[in-house]
Amino acid sequence: MKKQTIVYHYKDKIYINLTNKCSNNCEFCIRNGKEKFYDYYLWLDKEPTAQETIKELEKYMDYQNFVFCGFGEPLYALDTIIEAAKYLKRNNKHTRLNTNGQADLIHKGFSSDEIAKKIAGIIDEVSISLNAADAESYQKICHSEFGIEGYASMLRFAKACKENGIKVILTIVDCMGEEQIEKASLIAKKLGAEFRVRRYEK
Ligand code: SF4
Repeated sequence: MKKQTIVYHYKDKIYINLTNKCSNNCEFCIRNGKEKFYDYYLWLDKEPTAQETIKELEKYMDYQNFVFCGFGEPLYALDTIIEAAKYLKRNNKHTRLNTNGQADLIHKGFSSDEIAKKIAGIIDEVSISLNAADAESYQKICHSEFGIEGYASMLRFAKACKENGIKVILTIVDCMGEEQIEKASLIAKKLGAEFRVRRYEK
């Protein structure tokens, strides 16, 4: 039987895979058509509870850097992120959340600011997939279930994280072309966020 992976080690970091739900269906998503990521089965039979996640994390306390990222959008498991990140911060670890940033659409009834406040102090940095320089180009490749609103929601979350003292990194995949990358870098600059171009991995 394939063992589902909650916590996995890649390069010098530990990754935490909490959910397979995602509001996007990005054309470049690493999970497309894949059964696993390297040797790790990241498709989950059941989402782990906070207790199950922390029990797994206990095995990795020799490491320093932990990233919430897997075959899905971690914000769907916000309560588990909060509990696991509190545990990691009690152990003086560095924490990062990789997200599509559609926080206030995923958690309807909460503003981006309210969600950013929930993770401030326990998540050190948030890496948000900006992916494009405008809403139409974003929707064309990311296919958000929220439609054209997905892009604005992502930008609201980036701004809210920044305002709540969380380091923000906006990213774009290198296959987007020079013009989009250049415009996206200006959006990051305006927000006071770091900007990174990710390699498109097939
Ligand atoms: S937001 Fe992330 S997990 Fe969701 S489809 Fe896009 S790349 Fe995949």
